[in-house]
Amino acid sequence: MRIAIGIDIGGTNTKYVLAQEDGTVLSSYKKPTPISADKNKKIEELLVDSLREFLNTESAKKVIDGASESSSIAGIGIGIAGLIDRKSGKIIQSPNMSKLNGVPLKDVFEKEFSLPVVIENDANIYAYGEKWVGAGKKFNNFAVVTLGTGLGGGLIYNGELYEGPMEIGHMVIVPSGRYCTCGSYGCLESYASGRAIVDNVVSALEKGTESLLSKCCDGNIYKITPEIVFKTALEGDNLSREVFRDLGQFLGIGMSNLMNILDLEAIIIGGGLIGAWDLYIDKLNKEASKRAFKPLSSVPVLKSTLTKNAGSIGAAGFLFSKIASNPTGADQ
Ligand SMILES: [Zn+2]
Repeated sequence: MRIAIGIDIGGTNTKYVLAQEDGTVLSSYKKPTPISADKNKKIEELLVDSLREFLNTESAKKVIDGASESSSIAGIGIGIAGLIDRKSGKIIQSPNMSKLNGVPLKDVFEKEFSLPVVIENDANIYAYGEKWVGAGKKFNNFAVVTLGTGLGGGLIYNGELYEGPMEIGHMVIVPSGRYCTCGSYGCLESYASGRAIVDNVVSALEKGTESLLSKCCDGNIYKITPEIVFKTALEGDNLSREVFRDLGQFLGIGMSNLMNILDLEAIIIGGGLIGAWDLYIDKLNKEASKRAFKPLSSVPVLKSTLTKNAGSIGAAGFLFSKIASNPTGADQ
């Protein structure tokens, strides 16, 4: 069985897998993403070095050395946040790694490793992973929402990855709302994301709202993280519980928009905040069913089953799909 290299370049960490065509992960690796270039090397060169490092680990070497003719390495799939020129494999705009803007990442990796390379947006890759081996396996039409520090989105339509922007996090839901990093105002991401959780808590604490969180972090409320808010919510803290319910409400509004626009069989939520699922899912469902067209509001909202390495697994799967549709190479 063939093997693919899957890479998920995140804002904090880059994750790697070697995966088989049936989705089995044979080896995985994680490394901090090089955010800035060092003196002698560009970011893309540091990313190439990191992949070499992974391929030189004991675990990866064992897989590659054991690979016979019939289980050769098929290529490299890469997921990264931002807009991608799919034809050229160039990064058009990456919010976390602006130094990669304009870099032909596909060419760089193809040249270095002499393997076919495909590049996709990270949330799209996540959606592909759900279709390939996750909670979306049995569906042909579903949206994936990645709820982490920010809010990403991907879509599987008629069984295929929709290769478009799907920036669900930047659908506007509050006119004249909060300023968003994309340059607009009132985007869903500013109200439903890890960043929004922290913003809401901090602004309530600044106004003097009582909460267990005011004593947190040696009194420095600007050090509060979504994980800390989750913990105090479980301890029964009202403010912490409320911000998760608010997140559920905004997310419910966003999801009702998706239900009304797309003919979906399911919405799958993934990302770091699914750990706090019970704190917002009721509110989300209630809000979505209140707002979506009645016959459309029964679309189930499901939890991702690919919590670990979802992006890198999806990247490997996406590479296989591209190779299958174009056996002469991944250039399309
Ligand atoms: Zn935005």
